[in-house]
Amino acid sequence: MAQTCSEYLNFILTSSFGRLSPQSLAHILTFRLYNTFTNQKEVFVPLTPGIVRMYNCGPTVYGRPHIGNLRSFLFADVLRRWLEYKGFDVKQVMNITDVGHLVDDADEGEDKMLAQAAKEKIDPWAVAERYMKEFLSDLGALNFLPAMIYPRATDHIPEMLEMVQGLVATGYAYEVDGDVYFDVSKFPAYGKLSGNRVEDLVAGSRIAVREEKRNPADFALWKSDEKHLMKWDSPYGPDGFPGWHIECSAMARKHLGEQLDIHTGGEDNVFPHHECEIAQSEAFHGKQFAKFWAHAKFLQVDGGKMSKSLGNVYVLDDITDRGFEPRVLRYTLLRGHYRQPLNFTWDILEESRASIENWDRLAQDLGRLSEDVEAAPLGMEHVERARKEFEEGMDDDLMVPRALGAMGTLRGAVGRGEVAGEAAREALNFVKSVDSILGVIRFEDGSLEASIQSRIDARTQARSAKDWAESDRIRDELLAEGIALEDGPDGVIWRRV
Ligand SMILES: [Zn+2]
Repeated sequence: MAQTCSEYLNFILTSSFGRLSPQSLAHILTFRLYNTFTNQKEVFVPLTPGIVRMYNCGPTVYGRPHIGNLRSFLFADVLRRWLEYKGFDVKQVMNITDVGHLVDDADEGEDKMLAQAAKEKIDPWAVAERYMKEFLSDLGALNFLPAMIYPRATDHIPEMLEMVQGLVATGYAYEVDGDVYFDVSKFPAYGKLSGNRVEDLVAGSRIAVREEKRNPADFALWKSDEKHLMKWDSPYGPDGFPGWHIECSAMARKHLGEQLDIHTGGEDNVFPHHECEIAQSEAFHGKQFAKFWAHAKFLQVDGGKMSKSLGNVYVLDDITDRGFEPRVLRYTLLRGHYRQPLNFTWDILEESRASIENWDRLAQDLGRLSEDVEAAPLGMEHVERARKEFEEGMDDDLMVPRALGAMGTLRGAVGRGEVAGEAAREALNFVKSVDSILGVIRFEDGSLEASIQSRIDARTQARSAKDWAESDRIRDELLAEGIALEDGPDGVIWRRV
């Protein structure tokens, strides 16, 4: 596979892959994404021209995702939307972990699913069902584009066992009394993503030493426990369940193939989860598992860590209970750069609401200006500058704040009356393309506009007939629907309030 941009471009131009023009290819190859694996931004080039295979570590469904989890998933949604904007066909897979994720994220502690089941006095399958539904409903409310598939770990036990058995057969893994461990000493590259060295891990307190392990840093692929409520028969005994890491390796392989273009997660997934995924997958098939590893930073709340004891582990309902629409949370979580710490406060949420309403108004103003077909084109340079700034910002490792800055500059020009006619229509298209990434702006649809306009016309008629009662009635009726009328020199204009 060609590695550099120019080689890639030549490869495309000389291959049968002719769907895209050279100009649009040059456009595609400008996206630079930060790769945790190399610790630098790199030009994104997919393994197969035009197609992106992207795997996102999804939730462990033992509770409602909190807003910090949502930030990490939202990063994946924005990334997918930007890749689609660039013309790629994105195959996106986000897994659902419903077994095997232990409390310490490694080999110790209770299974999170079982701990929650005991707390709620229901069985773990019911816990999985309940929180998976809540998760998917949160994604819908937050306007996520649906992934190609949300595979569940419990539906992929044969695929996991195939990998476990393969790793045992080739000596990368070994069995001890029904448990199967990955032998990190057999995979010298272990640590290449996180920068951890096996000898440091052994000395550190992160690894609890289990006697049956050959090396303290070895990790579980399969565990046996007759008391575990979610268990499967396997060559290692009748009461087994998978380790959390092997789930992602097996589900990625099943749905996207052995090599991924991008693997995402939260910053806490780098170690041990993603490090272990790399070891398992690459030891199993001998190829590079993922070309890009991309991680979103944690969300802070009130300038610090979220914690149950502080009562600030918020979920979507906490936001909507205070009168904020889900789109306000979406905007709050994506308006910063995904690799910068982002702080959440109720004041910031309030600010976000005001910003979104400004974008709504910008779209309305442009809608109105666009309808004036007589107006001479004015201010095309503002639109072109904004589009360039937006695309350069997003191409630079998804720099959303720059994209928002571009839209803000355009808003200023519209406010000063410097955009009209054809340029207004282009500006509206631009705002729509920014929102194909943001997913938060409310564009008035034609039927609503028609209904408002017909009532504005009726009110104008009533006013010319000096029927003030009817004129006021129509104004109040619209206001009750959140539409305010303003009488200006060029006639009546309306705004959402
Ligand atoms: Zn994962």
